[in-house]
Amino acid sequence: MKKVTVGAAVVGAAAVCAVAALIVNHRMRKSSKWGRAMAILREFEEKCKTQDAKLKQVADAMTVEMHAGLASEGGSKLKMLITYVDNLPTGDEAGVFYALDLGGTNFRVLRVQLGGKDGGIIHQEFAEASIPPSLMVGTSDALFDYIAAELAKFVAAEEEKFHQPPGKQRELGFTFSFPVMQTSINSGTIMRWTKGFSIDDAVCQDVVGELTKAMKRKGVDMRVSALVNDTVGTLAGGKYTQKDVAVAVILGTGTNAAYVERVQAIPKWHGPVPKSGEMVINMEWGNFRSSHLPLTEYDHALDNESLNPGEQIFEKMTSGMYLGEILRRVLLKVAEEAGVFGDEVPPKLKDSFVLRTPDMSAMHHDTSSDLKVVGEKLKDILEISNTSLKTRKLVVELCNIVATRGARLAAAGVLGILKKMGRDTPKQGGSERTVIAMDGGLYEHYTEYRMCLENSLKDLLGEELATSIVFVHSNDGSGIGAALLAASHSMYLEDQA
Ligand code: ADP
Ligand code: MG
Repeated sequence: MKKVTVGAAVVGAAAVCAVAALIVNHRMRKSSKWGRAMAILREFEEKCKTQDAKLKQVADAMTVEMHAGLASEGGSKLKMLITYVDNLPTGDEAGVFYALDLGGTNFRVLRVQLGGKDGGIIHQEFAEASIPPSLMVGTSDALFDYIAAELAKFVAAEEEKFHQPPGKQRELGFTFSFPVMQTSINSGTIMRWTKGFSIDDAVCQDVVGELTKAMKRKGVDMRVSALVNDTVGTLAGGKYTQKDVAVAVILGTGTNAAYVERVQAIPKWHGPVPKSGEMVINMEWGNFRSSHLPLTEYDHALDNESLNPGEQIFEKMTSGMYLGEILRRVLLKVAEEAGVFGDEVPPKLKDSFVLRTPDMSAMHHDTSSDLKVVGEKLKDILEISNTSLKTRKLVVELCNIVATRGARLAAAGVLGILKKMGRDTPKQGGSERTVIAMDGGLYEHYTEYRMCLENSLKDLLGEELATSIVFVHSNDGSGIGAALLAASHSMYLEDQA
């Protein structure tokens, strides 16, 4: 009996010891798990660092590439495309003009009535339609016929007061946000389709010619007076209401910028010098890259596995299509190496692009004390339930690192443009204002990103200049801008003068 008791006591003691060991072991595992997770986070943070000195190097590199791209065709990763827009709207334009905005899954048809000097936009109206997926991969005739038919409907329904005077043809600005090699303000050939469009028979085709033929087939009597992309449209739209707009930046699914350049500073321009002496340049800045960009292992992997490896590196660090995907890749590493989401890696976390930037933005902006939104997003999108507050805080911290790097690099890009324009140092007298017209879903909706971008640029410029640089959200400026460019490049302009 005694023996047994002793034995039981021994067994009991051993069990207590074992349980204690398990607890200690568990705590150790837990603490080493967090140690590993924090190490991954800190390393990522370190590699993503964008201290002011680094941003200035990025800005300088942007300026250098701008010069190279302007010097010769193919001289830089930056295409610095000549847009033939040498006449931005002045505000004096008058009459009824149309625009067609095609650049994603939706397209819009607009009509604006301009009141002439100080008259502003008297009237504007638009219709929006989505492109049926079958037409995105069909023939160019089918796609352009569909667009022209929508335009025909829009025109057929309009009130008589918008009709053109006798003998005058309607004029249209076409915002076509795909790569185009432009040959004049209203002509150019399609270089390639992107964003899910795949229309092989249209490559190298004359985009305005195709639209014009389709409009004829659908009985629309309209002339395409300007062919632009969304950055150029946004620049023109912004300029109409704010004289000092000199730069436009789009931060949406992708990113791009346009600005006003002196023709003398464009060695590769061999055409006549326009009256204004200026030309809008479409930078195609998404393709910028530099050894100063803080690239991490996650960026390299994302790029390698992308549809266009080695291209659009700046876009892949800054724009809406990619920010959520970078975050997913870091979370996957944290899951695999530190097991913060449990012993098994959540399978959903392995799906590329499952975590979208709007969801990342929602988590980043979660102000609830228990980070409820973060918990919900992790559950709904990644099927990770019962996360601890500590885990959710880690996720927010990662959102912040990814968004901050993107926003600060975008700020450095803008600084590069301002340097190229000679607007990065205070002028004597100091009255020069530079307005930057901004648009795109990322800029519009991701407040932390937007604030960080704007504040970073002001910090980089210093106090004296900060107040003379103004960001304006040019909401849907690209459509209106195209109509305005049709007006400022109207074939009837000479008659008016
Ligand atoms: P596009 O660039 O395709 O012409 P938009 O300018 O509307 O279209 O931008 C859409 C992109 O903006 C989305 O792909 C997404 O990345 C980003 N976006 C949209 N909403 C949000 C949001 N709430 N937070 C962060 N990013 C967003
Ligand atoms: Mg767009």
